[in-house]
Amino acid sequence: MATLRCPCSSGLPYAECCGPVHDGERLAPTAEALMRSRYSAFALRRPDWLRASWHPTTRPARIEPGDERWIGLEIESTEDGGPFDRAGTVTFRASYVEDGERFVVHERSRFVRDDAWRYVDGDQLA
Ligand SMILES: [Zn+2]
Repeated sequence: MATLRCPCSSGLPYAECCGPVHDGERLAPTAEALMRSRYSAFALRRPDWLRASWHPTTRPARIEPGDERWIGLEIESTEDGGPFDRAGTVTFRASYVEDGERFVVHERSRFVRDDAWRYVDGDQLA
């Protein structure tokens, strides 16, 4: 059986990367791991995980994946966000195709950890 590669571009099988995080079997240990799991949730259309990983203070009322096809994630840098930090940022480029056109989301996202890492918000970069 073919092994599904994780959409987050880690090179790992999904079952050893974002899969267990999506299924609630494992907490994302770092802000970067949570960021990867959110990218994979967009790619695999898992709004349940987008909701669960979004901080309640900033979470939109409705989360509905669009028709875009996510084609790659590149982590540019991280600041803090380690297993013992309470906050961190992850700067990334996420690429997708919609209506045959390629787009890139370039963002510096902020994460906080209380019982688990969660996405707070982000700044769009040029
Ligand atoms: Zn992954």
